[in-house]
This record gives sequence, C-alpha cells and structure tokens, in this order.
Amino acid sequence: MTTYGGPPAFGSFPAPVERLIVQFSKLPGIGRKSAQRLAFFVLTLSESEAAEFGEAVAAAKRDTRLCETCMNITDVSPCAVCRNDKRDRALVCVVSMPQDVAAVERTREYKGLYHVLHGVISPMSGKSPDDVEIASLLARVQKGGVAEVILATDPDTEGDTTALYIARLLAPHPVRVTRLAYGIPIGGRLEYSDETTLLRSLEGRREL
Ligand SMILES: [Zn+2]
Repeated sequence: MTTYGGPPAFGSFPAPVERLIVQFSKLPGIGRKSAQRLAFFVLTLSESEAAEFGEAVAAAKRDTRLCETCMNITDVSPCAVCRNDKRDRALVCVVSMPQDVAAVERTREYKGLYHVLHGVISPMSGKSPDDVEIASLLARVQKGGVAEVILATDPDTEGDTTALYIARLLAPHPVRVTRLAYGIPIGGRLEYSDETTLLRSLEGRREL
C-alpha cells in the first residue's frame, strides 16, 4: 500500500466518525466492527434525532442517582419502591444489579424492599467486599426493622460467594437470612429468568 507520509491514520474514517466509533467500542459486548456499524447508523439520523440521542446519554447520567435506602438507580431518592408505604419494610431482597430489581418486580408478587449491591465479590476481577454495597446493607439491618434478608445474587460461583459472605456478616444480627431456591439453572442469570421460575425461586427460598 502506498503511503503519502505523515503518521499512519488510526482508522480510515474522518476524525469525528472515529471519535464516535471509539465511544461505541467502550460499550459492553461491542467490538470495533459493531461500533463502526452503530456510528454509521448515527450518521443517518437527522440533526435533531442525533441531538436527542446525545442528550439522552448525558441526561441518563445527569438525572439519576442512587437511592439513599436501597442503592437502586433512581431519579428521585428515596426511590418509588422505598417510598411506597404498601411495601413490606421488614423484607429486603438483595440483588447484584438494578436490572435484577426489574426482574423480581415482573413477578408482581414480591412486596418487600430491595438492596442493590452493584456487583458481586470477585477476586478474579479485583472486586472486594468494599467495592459492592455491603456496608450500606449492614448499616440498614443494624438500624432495625428488617426481619428477613433474601439473598438473590445469581446462582454462580461469585453470586454464591457473595451470598455466603453476607450471610456470615448478618449471622450475629436478629434477622432471618434466606437464599433463593433456584429453579434457575446453575450459572443462570436472574435478570433473564422468566416470571414463573423466579416466583417459584422466591416462594421456595431456604434458610442459609
Ligand atoms: Zn430505594
């Protein structure tokens, strides 16, 4: 290939397009090829559609925060679930991600509150207990009023390790600690479980 001097171009695209490709490449599961496809799709948008797209990205970050009680992502703190006085405050379902709250809510049967860890303990990816919302859960239980903590982390090695770690921390406290009875296959994800399976897992939860 003939080059005409100067540093070799990183991509063969104009700088603004390259910039967009780099941003899309940061998304989970998006490689360089997919990022290119998405970037070129954005270029087919009208100027107002593109502005709306960019503003939605900025606003999602700007206008959300963590609920002061359950650590779920919310636009108003405390979040709608924590503010709802029809929910059973004595029951706290501990999940690893905000998406898991949505999964449990889809069962329409769970009436307690939540606690979102924002991850699981994972020595492999350098996540220690301090990197997830365990201290805030402990503080919540210590404040009193919680009768049962349901550990609903995913049924994989890291999810189980996290559940056992939390169970040990809670052992000295006068609170019932249970784990979902997973009809979800080992290594399966709570987020992708159907409502019936999840409901059965909740109903069949066992003491840890
Ligand atoms: Zn909340």
